[in-house]
Amino acid sequence: LVRLRARLARSNSSLGRGLLAVLGRADLDDAAWEELEDTLLAADVGVGPTTELVDRLRTRVRVEGITDPEAARRALREELVALVDPTLDRSLALQGPEGTPGVVLVVGVNGTGKTTTVGRLARVLVAEDRTVVLGAADTFRAAAADQLSTWGQRVGVDVVRGPEGGDPASVGFDTVKQGLETGADVVVIDTAGRLHTKAGLMDELGKVKRVAEKQAPVTEVLLVIDATTGQNGLRQAQVFGEVVKVTGVVLTKLDGTAKGGIVVAVQRELGVPVKYVGLGEGADDLAPFDAEEFVDALLA
Ligand code: GDP
Repeated sequence: LVRLRARLARSNSSLGRGLLAVLGRADLDDAAWEELEDTLLAADVGVGPTTELVDRLRTRVRVEGITDPEAARRALREELVALVDPTLDRSLALQGPEGTPGVVLVVGVNGTGKTTTVGRLARVLVAEDRTVVLGAADTFRAAAADQLSTWGQRVGVDVVRGPEGGDPASVGFDTVKQGLETGADVVVIDTAGRLHTKAGLMDELGKVKRVAEKQAPVTEVLLVIDATTGQNGLRQAQVFGEVVKVTGVVLTKLDGTAKGGIVVAVQRELGVPVKYVGLGEGADDLAPFDAEEFVDALLA
């Protein structure tokens, strides 16, 4: 965790430094507020949340008569935490009806880190003493199923796969079936993320979910977003939200960007909390997201 914190701090340090530098000024004039705005926008926070934060901070500085840079920084920290929202429930929904496993569907554009996320999530769940079954419902890429099988071996969990080019929904069905038969606690299903046509994706993903739910409700739909693709990645991700009801976001590759503000934009645009973040390529580099920790790393 300490290592992850350090990595988060490193990736965010330029944003944090920029913000703190502005507030360290003796005179918080219009130019300073504009600069603060620019810094937040450059970090992918998004226009709405940026305006909101700067307005609130400006009002506080005026109303509370803040002149000391330290007090201004404390106010900034509080406002950033409020923006990231520590009150959101970021735990995974894994509670199905009695006798059924929690069913997690992992969706997102190819290359965002979906399969890696499924593998790492299995690791986290196993470490929590839960029994897990993985499903490789991305049947279009044999490499994806192989990659998941490797994760399964590494973590020590079963992976259900189907024939290459087979029906993804049938793999999803078989995965839930195996979860039920073996009394597993959680089933995690990796899906295909080809953005060929929206209609095709809609059919495919919708079907995976519907067919899985013939046996047990899908308790969590995790949307994987690559933090380095910024606002563009966010727009792509929104398509998935129109297909299935997303309940949480995994923001990967946060180690590869100085634009940590995308966390705020993602939550605002999609209306769902960031639940986990990817902070590297390693097996341990998936961390539960914590608003206060994130902001502290930002301002470290
Ligand atoms: P998928 O196509 O969405 O299933 O993506 P993959 O899981 O195959 O991941 C694509 C690439 O992103 C791989 O090289 C992963 O190692 C890499 N990756 C995934 N998550 C992270 C992360 O949090 N940080 C970094 N730096 N790389 C990541």
